[in-house]
Amino acid sequence: MAKFSKHEGTPFVGMFYAIGSIIYYVMVPVDQGDRQEDDVSTNTTHYEWWRYIYRILKRQNPHFDIEDHEYVPRGRVIYNTGEDIYYLYVDRCIRKNKRQMQEILNTMHLPKGKTKMVTNFHYQCEKCRKD
Ligand SMILES: [Zn+2]
Repeated sequence: MAKFSKHEGTPFVGMFYAIGSIIYYVMVPVDQGDRQEDDVSTNTTHYEWWRYIYRILKRQNPHFDIEDHEYVPRGRVIYNTGEDIYYLYVDRCIRKNKRQMQEILNTMHLPKGKTKMVTNFHYQCEKCRKD
């Protein structure tokens, strides 16, 4: 587990994918995030993020073949500067998994009293869409 000595305690914004039991993050400390009006996150698109993670997974496992990022449970953290709230958008499959939720909160240093969880149709994996 990496230590973030320089950013100890600083919350992160960004995105994650859950593949099997492992969560893959693409994130930056909130003070280095990209600000659009009141929202702070990363300025990379979902598509670019998935291409990046896909390359990593493909290197680890040449048989990995999920090319469509919408197939995979995922989520995103956006900090709203006006409200001083971290919005944690997350797929229902991840939200149901207490261990994964705790891991995300810990890894991204999301402050308990200032984090709101949201599930919506943008963050649905293949399985959620079928339910
Ligand atoms: Zn799902």
